[in-house]
Amino acid sequence: MSAVLPTYARFDLAFERGEGARLYAEDGTAYLDFTSGVAVNALGHAAPALVAALCEQADRVWHTSNLYRIPGQERLAARLCEASFADRVFFTNSGAEAVECAIKMARRFHWGHGAPERYRLVTFEGAFHGRTLATIAAGGQAKLLEGFGPPVDGFDQVPFGDLAAARAAIGPQTAGILVEPVQGEGGVRVASADFLRGLRALADEHAILLILDEVQTGMGRTGRLFAYEAAGIAPDIMAIGKGIGGGFPLGACLSTAQAGEAMTPGSHGSTYGGNPLAMAVGNAVLDAVLAPGFLERVRERGACLMQALERLAAAFPDLLREVRGKGLLCGFRSGPDVARMVRALLDQRLLTVPAGENVVRLLPPLTVTEAEIGEAMDAIARAATALKRESAT
Ligand SMILES: *Cc1c(COP(=O)(O)O)cnc(C)c1O
Repeated sequence: MSAVLPTYARFDLAFERGEGARLYAEDGTAYLDFTSGVAVNALGHAAPALVAALCEQADRVWHTSNLYRIPGQERLAARLCEASFADRVFFTNSGAEAVECAIKMARRFHWGHGAPERYRLVTFEGAFHGRTLATIAAGGQAKLLEGFGPPVDGFDQVPFGDLAAARAAIGPQTAGILVEPVQGEGGVRVASADFLRGLRALADEHAILLILDEVQTGMGRTGRLFAYEAAGIAPDIMAIGKGIGGGFPLGACLSTAQAGEAMTPGSHGSTYGGNPLAMAVGNAVLDAVLAPGFLERVRERGACLMQALERLAAAFPDLLREVRGKGLLCGFRSGPDVARMVRALLDQRLLTVPAGENVVRLLPPLTVTEAEIGEAMDAIARAATALKRESAT
């Protein structure tokens, strides 16, 4: 029995070393990693530029707290703003903390405008925003809320993609709308550009805030630096995480100057948020993602992966039911129970992530090669053949 609190249903497998899209188990077996630590290792494992940035910073100073200026923060914040809609950035250590900051900021914004009664957010079924008390309430999933007392008040959930329902849910207490451009955990459910534009228009019409949770979709995952770009809109507030740290714990809440104006000294904080180690790595990740041609390549590889999956779905229609995704955030609805499919893929040395709606999520590093995509497709075909044989006997 392990001394670790048993909150995870883990595979009995541990990795010793990683390189690019490859992970090596303790017994030396190589796996193709199409989880990227759940959309985290954007540049793959042991990316030399990230290792160098981390080691160089480790030799200088690890941590000072936010009592003092942190030059790496100022640099990363300025660069994120330059590359996005934002004017202000608050650094966190995780995605949930970034969403938590976004929720607080939206409430505080209206408080600052003399409307403290506007504290509620419209949210969407199937959402995932993290595991803190506020973010499980925002996500609204019964299985994550169970046993944890009364959910934090202030979230009104409507069906994902239903603009009319979102409109109907807006009232005199509404502070904003919180949405993921692609629901990752929810089953790779892609919001249409029309839906996102509709939410932007609703927010403008009611003078409330549009908050995007791009913790999973941001930092190039969908083939744009941020997924909202493809819809031709911009949010007022955005939470990011996962890929921005490339494996180092890092998140951020980005906002316009106006949306963030009520976040005055003392209103929010974090001991570790934006510490020098995290900033060194975050800046190095951004260097890579903003390099000419990088995002274009993500879009190409994403299209290649989706096409290959469509071909497999045509060959194994009972096993791969529906291909979904955007960029390198993709997946398919599994015929068999998703846990069984993920296990069958693992047996073929391909690591994948289960998601809602019985979907297998494929999240290769953004640096994945076409050859590696080909290998992954071969593994899926082998797993599908094995599952087919099992169900035939
Ligand atoms: C993973 C995720 C979170 C939570 O991030 P943590 O780093 O686990 O706290 C929030 N929102 C979305 C969309 C996510 O995918």
